[in-house]
Amino acid sequence: MSSATPQTTPPLRHETTAGNYFVANYPPFAFWKQEFVPQFEAALEDGSSRATLGQYVHIPFCRKRCHFCYFKVYTDKDSSEVRGYIDALLKELAVYANKPVIGGRKPKFVYFGGGTPSYLSPDQLKLLTDGMKRLLPWDEVEEVTFEAEPGTLTDHKLQAIRDMGVTRLSLGIEHFDDHILEINGRAHRSKEVARAYAFAREIGFPQINIDLIAGMVEETEDKWRETVAKAVALQPDSVTIYQMEVPYNTGIYQQMKAGGQLVAPVADWETKRAWVDYAYREFEKVGYTVTSGTTVVRDPAKVKFIYREGLFTGADILSIGVASFGHLNGVHYQNHHEFQPYVDAVNAGKLPVYRALTPAADERYIREFMLQLKLGSVSAEKFKAKFGTDPRETFATPLATLKEWGFLTNGGDRIGVTREGLLQIDRLLQEFFKPEHKTGRYA
Ligand code: SF4
Repeated sequence: MSSATPQTTPPLRHETTAGNYFVANYPPFAFWKQEFVPQFEAALEDGSSRATLGQYVHIPFCRKRCHFCYFKVYTDKDSSEVRGYIDALLKELAVYANKPVIGGRKPKFVYFGGGTPSYLSPDQLKLLTDGMKRLLPWDEVEEVTFEAEPGTLTDHKLQAIRDMGVTRLSLGIEHFDDHILEINGRAHRSKEVARAYAFAREIGFPQINIDLIAGMVEETEDKWRETVAKAVALQPDSVTIYQMEVPYNTGIYQQMKAGGQLVAPVADWETKRAWVDYAYREFEKVGYTVTSGTTVVRDPAKVKFIYREGLFTGADILSIGVASFGHLNGVHYQNHHEFQPYVDAVNAGKLPVYRALTPAADERYIREFMLQLKLGSVSAEKFKAKFGTDPRETFATPLATLKEWGFLTNGGDRIGVTREGLLQIDRLLQEFFKPEHKTGRYA
């Protein structure tokens, strides 16, 4: 659609069809190319970046593949292959640690994502993190986030995770109903959540986040309300709530394809938004604050998301591991997304980078604005101070469109989105894309 003339209503698709709507980066990954990898290699030889440095480590192993999972994960690797992977991660990090781009900087945050980082044993975790700290010391690190699957967490492992310096434990609970967990292919059950959560609290993780998904297969209004009540009762420091998507590379999509179905067997978008809104309101009743389209926080003065802040404001993120994506010295990059080519490249002494892109100045501007809008509002003046141009002028047309649709709050310096807008922010962000990047997909 043209962004020149605001429409009176946003284009809507009610049913959940196959596709991925979540905006994680910009320009979209489809525009990152192998031919741009030399630009990334050149950026590594330049020591002029003064950006905040963070690290992302990808652990691609899981006990079982969830039916809605769209990540490349491995459920069949034995301990020697896992050990080989840890060696590869450390070799990869060693290459970066010696490059001019690091220039003596130390990481301010570290994020272990996956996959399932808690799939690793306490010994493997120690081997990995001791090696990482030797290469790039953690003495300036302010936040270490660790994603965990509740069923992998023994008390011994939780203690090891705490001891390695993790400040935020992020538990992939998704739902509290065992039937829903089972039918969606999750490996854990609610009993394991209760045990792991209680011990994690006991040993004093500074922050515990729980993840939920609204609209899993066979979700009902009653079951969702029960799940929200149980989540509220846990009193986590923060809660991340995703709305179920069905990307093409999921087990659910394969089943849809085999059965000739176009509509996924999950709730429609209005229902999922209503469920997330219900959860937000329940958490707000007990004092939580909504801090993004996917997050509620118990105490915003204490609970920070330093990784997310870095990602949204152009920090350098040194990412290692299969399929991981990062950003260094002005260039986006992504590693090989298959296990063996990744390990082979590292063992051959090469960087395992598969594709890259140097965003133009206007693309960096769009990227930061959109990602920050996912938090609910952006300060126009702050943006102008950083980039030199006022987003109220640069984005006059898309902002007029969002206003026309009723999703923008009025507020001078603060460009804010309404609750209704925040619940569907990812699809609305397409309004800010450059024409060549628009996919025309609207959930
Ligand atoms: S635990 Fe997460 S990464 Fe692993 S299969 Fe399930 S959704 Fe995918």
